Amino acid sequence: MLPREFGMRTSSVSKERILVVEDDIWQSNFLRQTLAVEGFDVSVLPSGEEFFQTVEAHDFDAVVLDLGLPDEDGIVLARKLRARSKLPIVVVTAREELEDKLASFDVGADDYLTKPVEPKELAARLRAVIRRATEADDGQGSLHQLGEHKLDIERREVIATDGTVFDLTPAEFALTVALHHAQGKAVTRDEIVDAVSSGDGPLNFRAVDILVSRVRKKLGKGLIETVTGTGYRIVRAETEI
Ligand code: CA
Repeated sequence: MLPREFGMRTSSVSKERILVVEDDIWQSNFLRQTLAVEGFDVSVLPSGEEFFQTVEAHDFDAVVLDLGLPDEDGIVLARKLRARSKLPIVVVTAREELEDKLASFDVGADDYLTKPVEPKELAARLRAVIRRATEADDGQGSLHQLGEHKLDIERREVIATDGTVFDLTPAEFALTVALHHAQGKAVTRDEIVDAVSSGDGPLNFRAVDILVSRVRKKLGKGLIETVTGTGYRIVRAETEI
């Protein structure tokens, strides 16, 4: 098996840069402050006038675009931007601009929110579109972080940081995926039995424990934690949290 290369994300080191295009000063101040609290580096433009100059001069990770701008139609900006760049766009719009909102998807917006904007939701959407764009860039859409390793759900592989592919049985892989999907929450032995059992008949709890110890042996002891009285949980890498 050939080692595969992948770049580790270091998003915890540098803040993701967001350009907010919004003419309403109250709204743009609100977004600037709340997104800063969410850990983003935020720039604001009050109109579409200097939009392309600004985008080209700075290395933004995503754009938050108000559709109702005084000088330019947000839809036109989105279409022009998409024609020259893959920079993720989250459209923010008033509810009454619903048709525009649908049109914005045709021109390549990645997501949308209606006003009033809930900052935590906008932050979550931004992280999602940035993550998707980064994964698409890397050509690693099906790769997930699994502790220090990578999990490739499509290829059914777990890959170490040095590119080595771990030798897992189907049951061991199914267990790993079930724990991964719970994103650090506890998975009960019952749930593991459901996730792992094949045509050979249901697994019992003792068999689950043995399976977990085999996966621990292969992928490293620190990856799976026992949750007393419940089951098991995956321990997430710091870069994931
Ligand atoms: Ca507006």
